[in-house]
Amino acid sequence: MAVVTFPHLGVYTPAFTWLLTQLGNTVITPQPPGKQTLTLGAVHGPEFACIPLKMCLGTFIEGLDQGADTIVTSGGVGPCRAGLYGTVQREILRSLGYKFDMIVLEPFRRHPVSLLRSVHKLNAAGLSPLRLLQTARQCWAMIKACDVLEHALLKLRPREVEVGSAERVFQRGLKKIFAAHNTAEIDQTTQAVLAEMQRVPIDPNRDPVRVGIVGEIYVLLEPEANLHIERILGEYGAEVHRAIFLTGWTEENVIREGDNETARQAAAPYLDEMIGGHGQDTVGHTVLYAKEGVDGVIQLAPFTCIPEIVARAVLPSVSNDHDIPVISFFLDEQTGEAGYRTRLEAFVDLLTRRRDKRRKAS
Ligand code: SF4
Repeated sequence: MAVVTFPHLGVYTPAFTWLLTQLGNTVITPQPPGKQTLTLGAVHGPEFACIPLKMCLGTFIEGLDQGADTIVTSGGVGPCRAGLYGTVQREILRSLGYKFDMIVLEPFRRHPVSLLRSVHKLNAAGLSPLRLLQTARQCWAMIKACDVLEHALLKLRPREVEVGSAERVFQRGLKKIFAAHNTAEIDQTTQAVLAEMQRVPIDPNRDPVRVGIVGEIYVLLEPEANLHIERILGEYGAEVHRAIFLTGWTEENVIREGDNETARQAAAPYLDEMIGGHGQDTVGHTVLYAKEGVDGVIQLAPFTCIPEIVARAVLPSVSNDHDIPVISFFLDEQTGEAGYRTRLEAFVDLLTRRRDKRRKAS
């Protein structure tokens, strides 16, 4: 039986553990990638590589050291080096002397045979196609529940009376979701947790500014990569609107590949070509947030990420044309938390003053 590990991905990680376990594998669940993980990835990875490669490489080393013999990771298509990262990581790990199998899950619409082969390899329990489908649906329901609850958490954070109270209910709720036995139970649990979250005491007089977060998917979804930006912004009194959630992204980019026309259409006057990664979406989401009246936008990007560097060059024009403040953060292993917090606090402060001034003037 394979001993499998995979990249950590924020709140969704237990859903992937559940799925791989149901398929009959022994799973080494990756820990949230801390400084130590990133250092491992930075020491053994190419210096110019982006933070997702380094963090995942560090995670794989930790998993292999704990006895994993199989790594499951995602592939990629389009003009971005993400599609090559599986190969690069495999070669680095082999050069370090690790013996393992690597299964790269490619997007179904582009590489159906490759994906089916990977699923077959992982299906150690020999589940029937029907059972496989049911298992995948239950995992999807867990991921959906995570997104529903996170949306609620983002609204509550800047309004809660006691800092951290909504997050405590949220974390307890996630545990119940991952312990549910079927999709019906997941749905019921989600509603119950939502109701409990609504009972968290809030201050009705708070009037948080609204901040959109756009950028590359990994740094948006992995709190360890973005230094828990949403929690920090919530503490500073900002309501976060995140451009990417896993369910929405998967529906748009994997199930109906290339269908996120709204963001791409919105980006077209500034960037009308697919440049890989999430560069075009970053521009498009910024335009859409400006049109929705969001007070400001934060671009989060891995250092050396070419699609986000291109988007960064375009964003000042979007900011000028749509009169919306935009700030960019390029993250890597050198990013210090103190400076990061200071810039975020100053940005929220600027947005609050700007909004209040406009209200007075109108
Ligand atoms: S989108 Fe950017 S961060 Fe992601 S793999 Fe491509 S270059 Fe790296």
